[in-house]
Amino acid sequence: MSSLYVHIPFCASKCPYCDFFSQVGSQQHIDEYVELLNLNIEILKRNSSPSPPFSTIFFGGGTPSLLSSRQIESILNSLEQNFGIAMDAEITLEANPGTVDLAKLQGYRQAGVNRLSLGIQSLTEKNLKLLGRIHSVKQARESIFAARTAGFDNLSLDLMFALPSQDLRSLEQEVSALLNLNPEHISLYGLSFEEGTEFSLRRQSGELASCGDNLYADQYQLLHDQLVAADYEHYEISNFAQPGQRCRHNQIYWQRRNCLAIGAGAHSFIEQGWGERWHIPTNLQKYKESLLQGENPAELLETYDHQGAMREFVYLALRTSGGADLHEFKRRFERPMEEVFSVALKNTGKYLHSNNDHYSFEQTGWLLYDHLISHFL
Ligand code: SF4
Repeated sequence: MSSLYVHIPFCASKCPYCDFFSQVGSQQHIDEYVELLNLNIEILKRNSSPSPPFSTIFFGGGTPSLLSSRQIESILNSLEQNFGIAMDAEITLEANPGTVDLAKLQGYRQAGVNRLSLGIQSLTEKNLKLLGRIHSVKQARESIFAARTAGFDNLSLDLMFALPSQDLRSLEQEVSALLNLNPEHISLYGLSFEEGTEFSLRRQSGELASCGDNLYADQYQLLHDQLVAADYEHYEISNFAQPGQRCRHNQIYWQRRNCLAIGAGAHSFIEQGWGERWHIPTNLQKYKESLLQGENPAELLETYDHQGAMREFVYLALRTSGGADLHEFKRRFERPMEEVFSVALKNTGKYLHSNNDHYSFEQTGWLLYDHLISHFL
């Protein structure tokens, strides 16, 4: 199995809470970047050991839907020629309402994209305004309708919670409205005030307040209860899916499997030794210069040792409902997980569900994830 992440670091405007690597780019910047991506693919091919065709490809950002369907098609063609794409590959594209219409979505579908992740974030006008999003509720609904008309039968919607002045009742109504749209997959994002963002400054000045730990926990519980009652599987801390609709690409990441990457700001993981993480710096000029000189723009970020690999395996696996598989742990690391993490397992036992095969957190454990997982790190 082999996967690829493609980073598109451009957005129509910068949302005031966002600290992802993205910037407002002109059409000329975007066109040039697509050419660089195609160069990146060829250089990646020269620097990679032979791998099976990609079984998952994920266009993330930023706003990949700023690219035309022809540009997405050219990238997919180049991937097909250089690496191959499996017949049943999952090909996801992140799109934002306000940047897509029916013709563009039909073009994406024809180019081979078969999973759309729509950043609707909210279904209330007040919240969309607060978040500085470029779209309205009407546009969000129109994008979903257009995606269905274009033939997307695997649709993921993003929903943000823990917003300033969002109470349980309004969140509940919002989730009901979301469920009426019947998406196959839902990703949740609890608002956080990241340093360096406009939201963080507005919080410091007292203009915005975070929702507080108790309300955050209550909202998370409400989301879990409402979505599970609607037959969604809560299969990862922040992700829900209808049966059979889990995101295959993200599961590769949580399973610590090979995932190559192209594009400035992209991260990759290589199953070599105990594992290596690489990244491409978030510097568009440097990215361009490296590629034009025929150099691989990726830099080694971390080489894992045995201990580090075991820790990261558990860190990622416990994010998922499947949890850490004891047999898989032993197979990969040649040591029993109970022996390696005996103290951590004892300290977190109250929140852990265990049987002969797995350890996993219940969702109350996920709420305390950062604290609980620190016992394993
Ligand atoms: S659209 Fe997404 S990536 Fe772009 S600025 Fe807004 S939150 Fe960040």
